[in-house]
Amino acid sequence: MSGVSVICPSCFEEFEVAAPHPGELPCDVDYDCEICCRPMRIAFADEDGDVQASAYGLGDNGPWG
Ligand SMILES: [Zn+2]
Repeated sequence: MSGVSVICPSCFEEFEVAAPHPGELPCDVDYDCEICCRPMRIAFADEDGDVQASAYGLGDNGPWG
């Protein structure tokens, strides 16, 4: 399993999360920041074979609105 870096929308620290299986992409998961422990959403997408992840706050729109 590979990890992918995300930046917390609350504390702006970067940390690594486990990437979902490529067959499950794109997907959107609830996650708690490993640094500040605040909840966030992480949107995972497949980009030319690489998993891209972007984290956003619960009150924000994700990359797909
Ligand atoms: Zn954080």
